[in-house]
Amino acid sequence: MTSVSDKTGNAIWIVGDLRTQRLWRQSLKVMAKAQPLAAQAQATIAMLLLGASEPDEAENRAVDLSACVAMDNAAREAVSHGAQTVYCIDHPQLAIPRTDIYARVLADLVQTRKPWLILTALTEFGRETAAFCAQRCRAGLIADCDELVLEDQQVVGRCPAWGGQILADITLAPGWPLAFVTVQPHGVALSDLGSDTGRIETIVPERIDFPDGMQLLSCAMEPAAARRLEEADTVIAGGAGLGDMRGFGLVRELAAALGGEVGATRPPVMNHWVEEQRLIGQTGKTVRPRLLITVGTSGAVQYTAGIMEADTIVAINRDPAAPIFQIADIGLVGDGGTLLPLITQQAKRLAMRRLADAACYIDGEGDQPRGGFGTMVRQLREARGWSAGELARKTGQTPDFVQQVETDQMSPPVAFILRMAQAMEVDPGTFLSKKEQAAIRDRRAQAYHQRTQNYSYATLTPDAENSHLRAFMVTIEPFLAHKPVAYKHEGEEFIFVMSGELEFTLGSKVHVLKSGESIHFNSDVPHKLKNLSSEETQCFVVLYTI
Ligand SMILES: Cc1cc2nc3c(=O)[nH]c(=O)nc-3n(C[C@H](O)[C@H](O)[C@H](O)COP(=O)(O)OP(=O)(O)OC[C@H]3O[C@@H](n4cnc5c(N)ncnc54)[C@H](O)[C@@H]3O)c2cc1C
Repeated sequence: MTSVSDKTGNAIWIVGDLRTQRLWRQSLKVMAKAQPLAAQAQATIAMLLLGASEPDEAENRAVDLSACVAMDNAAREAVSHGAQTVYCIDHPQLAIPRTDIYARVLADLVQTRKPWLILTALTEFGRETAAFCAQRCRAGLIADCDELVLEDQQVVGRCPAWGGQILADITLAPGWPLAFVTVQPHGVALSDLGSDTGRIETIVPERIDFPDGMQLLSCAMEPAAARRLEEADTVIAGGAGLGDMRGFGLVRELAAALGGEVGATRPPVMNHWVEEQRLIGQTGKTVRPRLLITVGTSGAVQYTAGIMEADTIVAINRDPAAPIFQIADIGLVGDGGTLLPLITQQAKRLAMRRLADAACYIDGEGDQPRGGFGTMVRQLREARGWSAGELARKTGQTPDFVQQVETDQMSPPVAFILRMAQAMEVDPGTFLSKKEQAAIRDRRAQAYHQRTQNYSYATLTPDAENSHLRAFMVTIEPFLAHKPVAYKHEGEEFIFVMSGELEFTLGSKVHVLKSGESIHFNSDVPHKLKNLSSEETQCFVVLYTI
């Protein structure tokens, strides 16, 4: 094993992450974790910052860098938190944080200045930079370390292993004096030393080698998932018991149905079923929801440390002796894979039921408080990650229509609720009352009878009062307007002109259809028909009604 005396340089470097203020604070915490080790090993601490004090505007136009921390501010802050040296590696082409480029620049610097340890925060960015650089420098790598200590003159990283069940002590083999370490940035307070003795050195690389065959096409900010998780009213957390990525998908489904946020224990994060910002617990987020549903989690203290402030905890675990039941308000002993889809389906039905109630109120039949319908539609849409355009497509409407519904400017037809239910994969029969189902059916039958009794309709589908699809032959007398049963109805319609000439007005748009021509339209839009010819006009009409 290598000892302190084998080390190449005498410095511990921390690679600062300037992409956001939150990540920058994590880098400062890594530095705070390194300080006791530096004191023990009589090493110095340096913070490395890569960036551009004068970014190339033209190059970076497509990239939003507004969340990045300015390098000069960060340098001063690092000094105030105890960095003896800050290296600002400043080049216009380093403005966009990219691990492939940063690692090359960093590796060149490591090889010339020869530090002892190079630390990055345990983020995807830090992991990738450390691994890439360690390979280029032919150096060792201690991965995912919680704590760094000096034992018998050797640097030892305490690293959780086996999903956190054990702590492994990892050190460097003889002949590997230089090491990269990825460090967990939690569980340490920032040391505010108030020092101003640190030195800030600017290094301007002569040239930056861009890797071949790689091109930055676009760049987008990650959604603020972490903040949403910490502030959410409803959290659904999944654990190792869900088995795999697919099993974990059931947690996402339930979160979408309830409009909640997804959380996780460490194993799903380590297995990449879910991103690391979703980790709950001692080394992750603390959540404070009104409702927490935790599925396939054993109840390890490192996890429960992050959920104790939840108002109501519902735990699902197939093992009745699982420790999670000791802190749960409601416990369900069963298989997560079986229970989750049932709960999700029930949650969706309730959501649709509330929607139907709110719609009834708009129609003057119910006693729900006003103004809730549009908000509920928007919440359901957003919980499933649909844009207004997607909901419009799924419900056969226009984005404008959806926007008007969501802002309560329009009371939507019952067809909208039914189509929304279809999009959410809920059978209307399971959330509409018998009376409501009958009302829809009656309305359909009523319209059918009216049509068949109208002199100008000849039905081609007798006894179709209860079916959605009906066909008629419609005859309109010369130069006369057709007297329809309804100017608009929920569904779709197809008209084929068999003979004569038809003026067809759909909304504000007028179409002239000659014999042999046809039109297919959304029959929610008001429409009228008029015969333009001196003879009878005959049309073949197919209606699909909800
Ligand atoms: C220093 C340190 C820090 C740590 N920090 C954290 C942290 O911040 N957050 C964190 O989560 N962990 C952390 N850990 C890890 C922690 O100790 C646990 O290992 C981890 O929380 C266990 O996750 P789990 O409950 O999902 O998995 P397990 O402990 O493996 O539990 C899985 C559970 O699922 C149940 N199950 C299995 N199949 C099913 C099924 N089909 N249906 C229903 N239930 C099923 C099992 O009965 C079992 O109870 C840390 C560990 C260390 C050492």
